[in-house]
Amino acid sequence: MGSRGNGNATGPGGGPAVDKGVDFANYFCTYAYLYHQKEMLSDRVRMDAYYNAVFQNKHHFRDKVVLDVGTGSGILAIWSAQAGAKKVYAVEATKMAEHARELVKGNSVEDVVEVIEGSIEDITLPEKVDVIISEWMGYFLLRESMFDSVICARDRWLKPNGVMYPSHARMWVAPIRTGLGDQKMDDFEHAMSDWYNFIDETESHYGVNMNVLTKAYREEHEKYYLKTSLWSNLHPDQVIGTAAIIKEIDCLTATVEEIRNVAAQFTIPINMDRTRLSGYAGWFDVHFRGSTHNLAIQEIELTTAPSTNGGTHWGQQVFMLHPPFRVNEGDKVMISFTMSRSKENHRLMDVEFTCELQQSSGKRLPPVTSKISIE
Ligand code: SAH
Repeated sequence: MGSRGNGNATGPGGGPAVDKGVDFANYFCTYAYLYHQKEMLSDRVRMDAYYNAVFQNKHHFRDKVVLDVGTGSGILAIWSAQAGAKKVYAVEATKMAEHARELVKGNSVEDVVEVIEGSIEDITLPEKVDVIISEWMGYFLLRESMFDSVICARDRWLKPNGVMYPSHARMWVAPIRTGLGDQKMDDFEHAMSDWYNFIDETESHYGVNMNVLTKAYREEHEKYYLKTSLWSNLHPDQVIGTAAIIKEIDCLTATVEEIRNVAAQFTIPINMDRTRLSGYAGWFDVHFRGSTHNLAIQEIELTTAPSTNGGTHWGQQVFMLHPPFRVNEGDKVMISFTMSRSKENHRLMDVEFTCELQQSSGKRLPPVTSKISIE
């Protein structure tokens, strides 16, 4: 997935009482558009990884029963059939299921692929499956919380020695330099000066002083411009220290409890001289390795790291530090990181970074905490 479902559904932090109607209106609705599916289908890095994973490991698919969780246009289900599956259940929550059905027929695999419209949590299958394939990843891996649905599918429908596609996932964080933060700070300052003009004019023209609302207006804009992560496809030169793996997920065994909150403490050495630490980038990779019982012949990796080839539609999530730090080679940043689901919408994330800079001289600067949402 990607610039993926937006969603402002209310839900108690991922608990079971998520309002389905609201979730549908806010999250699933975007996936019902071909426009949105095409964006994912045009991501060559994503497509090549899944394509190679399937066709270079046909032994996992030949004569097997496959479940595609969130089939969208049906692409992964069609590939599974073309790789020799004897049956593919292609489950899709939105009306996109109708287009998937057309595409399946248009590509002559309707005898193998059965498209089922419904939430994976609600539907029943007539049998257990050998393989679960799904493209469930959101920004910084976990945004959208769709992996919950894959876990649910796995626990209900995967045979004991079944295989997950992908089989593993990792989250990464690295220190970066970028001008994105200056631009956001300029936008914020511009919005505030516009507000002060508005106050003056409202008072002189209409005799009402709006100043008591300044604090609320400022908070609203701080959140929007300065406390929300940014999407970017960074160049590797913008990474100024060693990237750290902050979370590893085994898709065969992971539980919702394990991914609901992510916490990590790590130290990152800065490896660039006389630069500034503007903030952090977060990204992910997933691997297709099969399982210990049933290894992949060809392991495939899908990475969304900063790259020179234009990257993916996921890009990286950028978490800005306001103000940035001056740093030098040999400095270290000690980071304490947490990510949890937003209270208002279990598909969005609240991230907190506490950073302490230790200069190469040994001097430590006071720790700074930034709270940032992934919207
Ligand atoms: N598999 C397709 C689409 C990936 S996008 C591809 O790789 O191109 C993820 C899709 O999963 C969306 O179409 C979304 O509507 C669907 N989806 C998300 N959660 C779901 C759930 N719980 N049940 C069924 N479909 C779901």
